[in-house]
Amino acid sequence: MARSTGAGPARRIVVVGGVAGGASAAARARRLDETAEIVLLERGPNVSFANCGIPYYVGGEITDRWRLLVATPERFREWFGVDVRTGHEVVSIDPAARTLRVRHAGGEDVLAWDRLVLAPGAAPVVPRLAGVGSPNVFTVRDLRDADRLKAAVERAGVGHAVIVGAGYIGLEFAEMLRRQGLDVTLVERLPQVLRTLDPELAVRVEEELRRHGVDVRTGTTLEGLEAGTGVVHAVRLSDGEVIDTDLVVLALGVKPETRLAADAGLALGPSGGIVVDEFMRTSAPGVYAVGDAVEYTHAVTGKPTLMPLAGPANRAGRIAGEHAAADAAPSMSPVLGTSIVRVFGIVAGATGLGVEAARRAGFVARALFVPGNHHAGYYPGAEEMWLKVIYDDATRRLLGAQVVGGEGVDKRLDVLATAIRFGARVDDLASLDLAYAPPFGSAKDPLHMVGFIAENERRGLHRIITAEELALLGGDVQILDVRTPLEWAAGTLPGAITMSLAELRGRVGELDAARPVVTVCRGGQRAYYATRILRQLGFADVRTLTGGMLSVDALARAGAGSATSTTNLMEMTR
Ligand code: FAD
Repeated sequence: MARSTGAGPARRIVVVGGVAGGASAAARARRLDETAEIVLLERGPNVSFANCGIPYYVGGEITDRWRLLVATPERFREWFGVDVRTGHEVVSIDPAARTLRVRHAGGEDVLAWDRLVLAPGAAPVVPRLAGVGSPNVFTVRDLRDADRLKAAVERAGVGHAVIVGAGYIGLEFAEMLRRQGLDVTLVERLPQVLRTLDPELAVRVEEELRRHGVDVRTGTTLEGLEAGTGVVHAVRLSDGEVIDTDLVVLALGVKPETRLAADAGLALGPSGGIVVDEFMRTSAPGVYAVGDAVEYTHAVTGKPTLMPLAGPANRAGRIAGEHAAADAAPSMSPVLGTSIVRVFGIVAGATGLGVEAARRAGFVARALFVPGNHHAGYYPGAEEMWLKVIYDDATRRLLGAQVVGGEGVDKRLDVLATAIRFGARVDDLASLDLAYAPPFGSAKDPLHMVGFIAENERRGLHRIITAEELALLGGDVQILDVRTPLEWAAGTLPGAITMSLAELRGRVGELDAARPVVTVCRGGQRAYYATRILRQLGFADVRTLTGGMLSVDALARAGAGSATSTTNLMEMTR
């Protein structure tokens, strides 16, 4: 397929791996060099398929399998002049000779290349347990896995499934298998589901799973698979329980496929991925790598990081393909790991760092927890969402964000990811010029509210305290609950002075202006109003509880934070 222009022999670009990163690289290379010979080698039967759509195909939401085939080998040949060879597995690379060995049904060939793009992806993590090879134990990576699992689910009918791992893929399968009528037990080693969220947001996802009948076992490890007549019929958990089941889905995460790269002497980084520069060049001249197999630069920490997500793989593939064809390309931007998942009626997403990760990275991380409606409250159908925004107290730079709710979570998350990407400070959110009409948002969007709260704090109009900080706060503090009697009836914080916002001006004499006050309401807004009243009346030390009782309650339900703070929170909500 190479067509020399007469200016020298055409370049041969070989791409290994034909899905997200590899297919993007091959297609982009063609757009930059019409003369190059481009060969795409894929060991499986398909290229450019939508592995992200697999859970929805297994669950029956996507009914036509062909829809998962984003581009076929024929399309690659016809549209892009790419020589696609499926059923071709690359078994070794010689970077010095610029050749590789490829195995296929007809034998083994040596293929020379001028530029090589590696996009081999990542392999599912499989625990070392007897029985993992049984036909009813599944990992899910490609369409063949999807077909096997779908057939097993249909065979199981109203049976039982164990899903191991409560990351986003495990959660998607939990929902989809419930949808197919199976009873589902979800086993997770960590004390919470969805590790991309901080515990008080993750607890909302866990509650949604339980509401839909998923048996969630956090803080529990899969210890064994009990196989009888060739198939696994039960799982053994770390708490000693044995659960009968019809099938097991392992969704324990992935590890980068680096064997080819390592054998060829390419540098690997601290987290085990292939080291690349901003043009996705590896340590070997002429060799690029992209996708789940590489280490990207984290946009907040600046450190190398694995990020097995489709977005970075596609973007990196585009850059590698361009550079391989033209010896120049825009550079790959650092990654934030923005991710989102739907779990029954709830949507949860995160970008950048959570509080603990930010502290570990050396930031003075602080968080604002803000509830809000996805559109104007007066317009029918407003759904509540919870935003947690993490920023550096020293520079006020945004470090990360998490959003849980229903409609509109994706929009807030993407705005926050964009803001973080371009180095915004938390206060900058106050000035965003966002689209507004009642069915879509609010004139003061929850994102604005985060910005207003932050800006008010920066300007000294109020001080924020988080639920965790409040639980650790000892001493002579007056907790002032400014909600209404109806709300107090459901409980308040121990020792709290209950004085509704409407009463506050008349009863302020009951408070001691010389002692610290923490103002509390449901979500933080009325507490802020109370703070402003008190501050203007001469109270020097007044702090507003960010997220109000909603955040206290969520943290207590999650049982999160230090042992002391959790106990205190439990006490508080009793
Ligand atoms: P892959 O897409 O895995 O492609 C690698 C290909 O290389 C494979 O087809 C493999 O067969 C081939 N290969 C490997 N070694 C060789 C060799 N030696 N010779 C020839 N071929 C080889 N990400 C999101 O951002 N959002 C989602 O909602 C989402 N959902 C997902 C759901 C599922 C079930 C799965 C499995 C993944 C999901 N992902 C999602 C992750 C996303 O699909 C990956 O991050 C992305 O596909 C990585 O692209 P890649 O090109 O690096 O690897």
